[in-house]
Amino acid sequence: MKYVPVRLALVLILVVCEASVAATLVHNQEEYRQAVQDARAGDTIMLADGEWRDFEVLFTGAGEAGKPITLTAETKGKVILSGQSNLRLAGRHLVVSGLVFRDGYSPTNTVISFRRTRGEYAYHSQVTEVVIDHFTNPDRHETDFWVMMYGRNNHLNHNHFSGKSNKGVTMAVRLDSVDSQENHHVIDHNYFGPRPILGSNGGETLRIGTSKYSLTDSFTVVENNYFDRCNGEVEIISSKSGGNIFRGNVFFESRGTLTLRHGNNNLIENNVFLGNGKRHTGGIRVINKGHTIRNNYLQGLTGKRFGAGFAIMNGVPNSPINRYHQVEDAVIEHNTIIAASNIELAAGSDEERSATPQNSTFRNNLIFNEDGKNNFNIYDDISGITFEDNITNTKQVARALEGTSYRKVELREAENGILYPASRELKDVGVSRDLRVISRDDTGVSWYPKPDQRIRFGSGSKITISPSDSFDAAIISAKPGDTVMLAPGEYIASRIQVITRPITVRSTNPDQRATIHFERSSLFQIASGGSLELADLKISGRLAPDMVGNSVIRISQTPSIGNYELAIRNILVKDLTTNHSFNFMTASRHTFADTILIEQSAFENITGHVLSLSAETEDLGIYNGEYITLSGNRFTDIEGTVADVYRGGTDESTFGPQVELLNSTIERVGRGKRNNSGASVNLFGAQRVVIKGNTLIDSGGIRNVETTGEPKITITGNKFRNTPPETQVQ
Ligand code: CA
Repeated sequence: MKYVPVRLALVLILVVCEASVAATLVHNQEEYRQAVQDARAGDTIMLADGEWRDFEVLFTGAGEAGKPITLTAETKGKVILSGQSNLRLAGRHLVVSGLVFRDGYSPTNTVISFRRTRGEYAYHSQVTEVVIDHFTNPDRHETDFWVMMYGRNNHLNHNHFSGKSNKGVTMAVRLDSVDSQENHHVIDHNYFGPRPILGSNGGETLRIGTSKYSLTDSFTVVENNYFDRCNGEVEIISSKSGGNIFRGNVFFESRGTLTLRHGNNNLIENNVFLGNGKRHTGGIRVINKGHTIRNNYLQGLTGKRFGAGFAIMNGVPNSPINRYHQVEDAVIEHNTIIAASNIELAAGSDEERSATPQNSTFRNNLIFNEDGKNNFNIYDDISGITFEDNITNTKQVARALEGTSYRKVELREAENGILYPASRELKDVGVSRDLRVISRDDTGVSWYPKPDQRIRFGSGSKITISPSDSFDAAIISAKPGDTVMLAPGEYIASRIQVITRPITVRSTNPDQRATIHFERSSLFQIASGGSLELADLKISGRLAPDMVGNSVIRISQTPSIGNYELAIRNILVKDLTTNHSFNFMTASRHTFADTILIEQSAFENITGHVLSLSAETEDLGIYNGEYITLSGNRFTDIEGTVADVYRGGTDESTFGPQVELLNSTIERVGRGKRNNSGASVNLFGAQRVVIKGNTLIDSGGIRNVETTGEPKITITGNKFRNTPPETQVQ
């Protein structure tokens, strides 16, 4: 009898405890700090809806299994961390959800870090439904990271990461202390949105480990994530540790590959790579020992060499830890490879990388090509790979590989969007019927939109003006995708037009092109977010100020976020002659063009260059533009070059610059006394060059300096009159 009150008291205490497990809504940073200090296992702290500017969130605490401490938003998606903000977690059983990082960048080197400081990590903690959207350092070559996972048993799921355009991997798992090794982290259902071309090493989307700790196991699981146009560099994922699992991920139109760069015994299964024929899309690259690669579907991948649809590399004998360990004991089975431009075996074979793959198996794979070509490139002895029971629809492939039989194969699309052989006879080759393809919508968060393609030129409305209207006002009023249409006549720009969105300027009538004059040092300055299309116009430099270094188009010297595009068609540019070094277009340091296209245009009387893309002079493997195409143009009386493109350094992780000069006439170009190269076209370190069908008259020669990688250079079918032939320097 006398024990009853004690029991009652216990019950009461439990009830009180339950009641005290409550959500605390905080409205400012001071209230937040107090709430964190007071938080007990099972508590929730909610940030009030609204913008939290310059908030470096430190979230520490000791939750318990089943009773975590949670930091979340009053309403998911309505709490915006902007300006100089970031998040650190340290402790146990912590959960963060519902936050959006946008309109700013981290003042430190990380946006979300699973540690407070070196040695003080998070364990059994989770970050879920968090958005990082273009929260990117405006200096594209200043390095930072969006997510750094430390500690053990942490979970990163259903997050949305999109638009990182500066240097540094989007996210990394770190193994640099014992407390972070054999970590068993799980990374699943995240949406890795478009990452633009970085134009340098350091543009990976996910890295696990570093070469230094690469013989250590990480045991990280990466599954059911969606990699959407992750184009940063040649490695989308760089696995640099052992015991990882990459399963059920989709790689959609992403340039680069899942690379087993360092470390052993990784499993890659049930992944789907959809290149859709986009340039430089790749699949899987195999290096090191003991990997299993099975039941992956690879389709429409155009990459080659280290960026190929599938590559097994040669190693370095007794390799240092940061070079290439020999491939041994690889099992590669039940994969379907459809329309891959290149499958590379013993890739990278050279004097240093002479250790061929050993004791490996390639079996039950389906190789399907529509073009009837052998897409296998074999660079060394591949007798260490046993080929068994593979099927191909291409006789040339069957001839090149043992254990690979030719069959007529008819493919049919199944409900999961995957192509399978129609014949039941072939049901055991290639990927399994039950392969699940995760959809974009099943990753990330439902309450934050996933980005579509960038806004196209001409997709908006038309603003038509006549010479009596203000040119400046019309450009300023143009919204993203709008076209400013100029009726025939003359226009004067009296200010530099800063372009921060994609816009088009063109004449209403291509046969009566309007003329634009400008009174400042530039007509257009492309800044963050800007892209420009010009068509059917005349541009004169006659009214430009009498100073050195004017430029019709200049790329903003302040660091810019994101890449830009420049498209020019049927324009006449003339009289860029007030003072010397007057360029048509000038790139600035740490700016990057995805594409520059100039066609059917004429350039006359210019004291500088047409295109000056040589602002990255530090020889760090960086450059100013990826695809530069000049086609069907006429260049006359130009003191500088048609194109001055520079990429220095020895790094091999980029695909560009890629320069095409086609079917153009080049007359009296390149012989100005300030043009040090003395060339009419001056290319240094370009990775792909096509110069074809041009006529050069009374001009400087074509200068192309090959530096690093295996550049593909085609200079052919050009006519040289009173012009030195091309000089290629290797
Ligand atoms: Ca890399």
